[in-house]
Order: sequence, then C-alpha cells, then structure tokens
Amino acid sequence: MRIITNLDEMTETARGWLSGGSVGFVPTKGHLHIGHLALIQAARQECEISVVSIVVDAAALGSGEDPAAYPHYLARDLQVLASENVDVAFLPRAGDMYPPDFSTTVSPTGPLVERLEGANRLAYLRQFATGIIKLFQLVRPDIAYFGQKDAQQVAIIHRIVRDLNIDINLRVLPTVRENDGLAVATSNAALSPVQRQVAAVIHRALLAGKELVENGERSPASIEKAMADLVATEAAVKLDYAAVCRPDTFTEVDTVAPGTLLVIAAYAGKARLIDNILWTSYGRWLF
Ligand code: AMP
Repeated sequence: MRIITNLDEMTETARGWLSGGSVGFVPTKGHLHIGHLALIQAARQECEISVVSIVVDAAALGSGEDPAAYPHYLARDLQVLASENVDVAFLPRAGDMYPPDFSTTVSPTGPLVERLEGANRLAYLRQFATGIIKLFQLVRPDIAYFGQKDAQQVAIIHRIVRDLNIDINLRVLPTVRENDGLAVATSNAALSPVQRQVAAVIHRALLAGKELVENGERSPASIEKAMADLVATEAAVKLDYAAVCRPDTFTEVDTVAPGTLLVIAAYAGKARLIDNILWTSYGRWLF
C-alpha cells in the first residue's frame, strides 16, 4: 500500500491512473470501523484501483469525537487499510489543504444544507462539501463510495456532482449496524455502557415509523410524533429531531409516499447519533 500525504504527489499519481483502470474512492475521517470497511471492500471489488482518504481536522469532527484522540488511531487505521489491500492511503495535511490564504469554497444553498443536520451545522456541511470536492479533484475517482447513514451528506454530494457537472459516479451503501440495530459510528465509542444499551431506541423508532407507513399511515406529522414519542421513552437519549422528508432535497413532504426518508438525530451524553431509513421510489425499504 502506498501512503500519500503530498497533494502534488496525489495529483501526479491520479494522472498516471488515466489508463490504469477504474478508481474507487472512499473518503473518511479515520478511526475506521466496520461501516467504513463495507465501503472499502466494495471499492476493492468494483474497481481496479482503490483509494481511501483520511482527513482529520478539528472542525470536521462531530461532537463526541476528540481531535486529540485521532493520531492514536492512525497507525491502526493504516494497518487496517494495508490488510484490506487498499492501493493508496491518502492523508493530506490540513495545512496543505487549507493554507492561510485559502479563499474558495463550495457553498450549497437551500434546505439541503439549512434543515435538520444543517439547522445547527450549516458551516460544517459547507466545509464538508468543499473538502469532498477538493478530494475529488485530487484523487479523480471513477466511483466514490458513501454510507446511507449520513443521508444528508449523500444528498449534498449528489446535488453538487449534478450542479457542477462532475464526472464521478456515486455509490451509496446500506448502513452497517450492531446486532441491536444501532448504526455503527465513530461517536458510539463515546457512549457509556448504559447509553450504549439505550441508544438502539433510535433504530427501533425508525422501524416503528416504517411499520406505521406499512399499515397505511401517510401523515408525516403522525409518523414524526410516533418516532419522537418512542425515543422519549429512553431518558438517556435526547432527541434533536425526528423527521420525514424527501431524500434528495431534505424538504418536508405533504404525504408519505415511495421516495421518502425517515431520519432521526439524537444525543446520548456527548455522542451525537444519526440514523435513517429510506422508502425508495421503487417501493423497497433501505435501512
Ligand atoms: P466518516 O469517517 O464518519 O466521515 O465516514 C466515512 C464514510 O463512511 C461516510 O460515507 C459514512 O457515511 C460511511 N459510514 C460511516 N458509518 C457507516 C455505517 N455504519 N455504515 C455504512 N457506512 C458508514
């Protein structure tokens, strides 16, 4: 496995790949877990060349994640990537990616960055958008892999790729879960044993929403309330939002129909937990 930290070296290497076969790319913030591995293994299987980036900077980390803890994980992450036979681990330095005179950003607008995750984290989502597009420019993948768990980020990337005519295919893989349904996430490490036990209520609430839909309920407000009520049964879990929305725009829906996303965000202690299930436009549930 080759480890690249230098931006020019990444650009040169990507240029050399033009005739070398398809390039699969998995952007991550490191501290790799089995959710990341699902994306990495898909990239390995579907593309000739695989690249995994690890970009850690304080502003890119969600709550419950401690920037100081990250260097500690890097050696382990590199071992994991090597054992998965990843071709390139790309570890750009924050100072190279964002020099002091950096002044050009990708700034998605509208509900997609302003509602739900964007309500408190608009700046973060915009920074995420800029960072991913920079990585796309450096790695020049044919296919980029993302997890459905971060549905709003997925929708933002789809929109940017469409709006800016970026020639990259996006592959979105289902959320990898623990046995009790809790979505695997870096922030789960911050859960106390008790919080970890009750955190699965988020998944149960989504399933309750799904069941209501399957039983014919079509009112977004009723489904949102049912999901919120179920989360409220666990005192250690504090709901941020339980929402029903369009998966591509994150706007509200008047009535629930195929092509609707159920999404929940909550806090357990310091950890912020998000999860969703999607009633796809072709009628299948993705969760
Ligand atoms: P992160 O390192 O948290 O930025 O995540 C990197 C990628 O892994 C993103 O596309 C996430 O959506 C994806 N990911 C994180 N957790 C999971 C999971 N439990 N299942 C599937 N994909 C995931």
